[in-house]
Amino acid sequence: MSNVIDPIVLHARTHPERVAIHTSAGPWSYAELRTRSLRYAGLLTSHGVGAGHRVLLAAPSCPEFVVAYMGIQAVGATVVPINTMSTEPEAAYFLADAGASLAISWQEVGPAVSRAAENAGITHLTLTTGAETDSTPLARALDREPSETAAILYTSGTTGRPKGAELSVANLLAAGEISCIVAGTSSEDRTGTALPLFHVFGQAAVMMASFTGGGSLSLLPKFTPQGLIDLLRRDELTVMCGVPTMWNAMLHAADDADSTDFATLRVAVSGGATLPGEVARAFEEKFGCTILEGYGLTETTSLGAFNDIERGGKIGSVGRVVPRLEMQIRAHNGEVCGPGEVGEIFVRGDTVFKGYRNRPDATADSLTADGWFRTGDLGRFDAEHDLRIVDRLKDMIIRGGYNVYPSEVEEVLYEHPDVVEAAVVGVPDEYYGEEVAAVLTPRAGAALTTADIDTWTRERLSAYKIPRIIQFVDQLPKGTTGKILKREIDRDALRATASS
Ligand code: AMP
Repeated sequence: MSNVIDPIVLHARTHPERVAIHTSAGPWSYAELRTRSLRYAGLLTSHGVGAGHRVLLAAPSCPEFVVAYMGIQAVGATVVPINTMSTEPEAAYFLADAGASLAISWQEVGPAVSRAAENAGITHLTLTTGAETDSTPLARALDREPSETAAILYTSGTTGRPKGAELSVANLLAAGEISCIVAGTSSEDRTGTALPLFHVFGQAAVMMASFTGGGSLSLLPKFTPQGLIDLLRRDELTVMCGVPTMWNAMLHAADDADSTDFATLRVAVSGGATLPGEVARAFEEKFGCTILEGYGLTETTSLGAFNDIERGGKIGSVGRVVPRLEMQIRAHNGEVCGPGEVGEIFVRGDTVFKGYRNRPDATADSLTADGWFRTGDLGRFDAEHDLRIVDRLKDMIIRGGYNVYPSEVEEVLYEHPDVVEAAVVGVPDEYYGEEVAAVLTPRAGAALTTADIDTWTRERLSAYKIPRIIQFVDQLPKGTTGKILKREIDRDALRATASS
């Protein structure tokens, strides 16, 4: 029997004074975080929430998110954390699909969630600092079966409406434990992030990992490069977790600083998207730390493969499969691939989700009868058995019968000194089926031309991989974690650029 709040309860008992979260109003100890969470649980109980209920939570990454999240866990209910930018129809969909009986939103999230709840006849609570203060704390967290659903995380997948991935109590506890092992984190660590906690990376590999290790957590509700640099200095962070676009932005923001300014920083954990080698090298130099890239998905509670701290970061690889998981690369015909061969990545083990809520077909498509999860990502193992992500199966471009992996082309583009960000996509083409297109943000003030990019890529890539369509933009579309959203790139507009 267990509960997702257990790591906090454990540290509150053994090291009550140790800092669990740094807040703008000062640190909260583990004892304080436990009491606040159990008070929030008391508040939920007074609204009739208990075991088997589902509670929607819309809040940015802040200490109160953690209090509400852990309060929901303590009463044995399931948390449904949603994007704070959700519109009213989206919130209504999540409430209905999850079958939520209560909705909580942070005061500044706006009226979308409260209106959706009101229309659905569901109780809504506004989350504020100290919302739990007057409630009687629950005596202790409920013991749950490890296989019970602790969280439902909506993930868009390739098509259709978002699907609710059900993560169990055991999935979340395992993710925290495994993260600590591979990143070598302990109670001495001070971890900081600007990742949203409603996304699996922030929730499992950062929040759960920090509480499992017994260290402190620092949260930045809205990412700005300077904001994260300030947090790093204020809380003397030893570990930072983020996505490549954040490291890239911080590099450009920290131009005047040298690595001695960031002496406490030991490790930067990168995930969510391919980390361009150039960005990794420059970041390690500027911030005087090791950058460790990992790979995972919502459906694997964020953990799949990781560059173990013991071996150090290996640029270009996401490391080995983490403990308590198995991984296979499979060819089209289902046969297991040998080293070097590209195929789809399959994962099995303690962090693999239970299935998609209300979607038996989608669940059957992605989970085999013997527990293997098909990721939809293409990868290969190198000679040292480290995993290299080749691309998303759906992002692969097939140009005249040749497979082009966008991430390989992007890697070359990022090496160009005047390119800040790059996204490579396939655009429909009458002759080749698909044509390779690159959308780029140039460095401010650089006089970069399409001819420069053409020359640069031709010197480094085979002819069929060269982007024939090149577009410069001020901003690339980004998702909630800061990941570049390729599906939002207007391919028809790119095609028109080519024919004009
Ligand atoms: P999400 O479910 O939002 O966490 O997205 C998971 C997807 O992010 C995976 O299926 C991969 O396509 C991508 N991803 C995660 N980590 C990496 C990485 N290190 N390199 C490349 N792609 C990644």
